[in-house]
Amino acid sequence: ITGVPGVWKTTVVTGALKRLEEEGISYKSLNFGTYMFETAQKQGQVTDRDEMRKMPRDAQKSLQQAAAQAMAREEGNILIDTHASVKTPKGFMAGLPEWVLRELQPDTIVLVETDEDQILLRRMSDETRTRDMEGVRAIADHQQFNRSIAASYSMLTGCTIKYIINADFLLDRAVEELAAVLG
Ligand code: AMP
Ligand code: MG
Repeated sequence: ITGVPGVWKTTVVTGALKRLEEEGISYKSLNFGTYMFETAQKQGQVTDRDEMRKMPRDAQKSLQQAAAQAMAREEGNILIDTHASVKTPKGFMAGLPEWVLRELQPDTIVLVETDEDQILLRRMSDETRTRDMEGVRAIADHQQFNRSIAASYSMLTGCTIKYIINADFLLDRAVEELAAVLG
């Protein structure tokens, strides 16, 4: 499951997993960023998960690789909360480069999206995270880049790509759609 920061993808995931649980379908949800952060924190590289995307590229890549290997060892129905691309100070970094896809072999990649003005407002209202402040144009570009790079992930793995819109006041609809994909 992917989506730009502030699209509230974790909220959609939580809702969908609860719905599936009610139907007797259980998924284990893993957070890619948390896997990376636990290592980065242990090694004293960062103290906040939002600092990771500013780390040197090689450091991010090695955390990314280690996280993918660790998650690949998990068994059963696995859902991974992550990013199609990460916005770093030096440009977009693929969230699922070839060596990560080889480990994870996803069946489906979901892109959670909504209008850029809604994302901007959600970022401004979130005090729990250090979100990058950027304009609507930049947010729209990031979402567009994510669609493009997702197409290449499908080419590499044969996975399907699903767009889910998480619009204001329509969280239920997004939850429903994600549950349908996972179920
Ligand atoms: P999140 O909590 O989903 O916003 O993730 C926190 C941070 O983890 C992101 O800002 C990235 O620095 C990092 N991260 C998460 N997924 C990936 C990925 N697939 N590749 C590289 N970095 C990632
Ligand atoms: Mg999240």
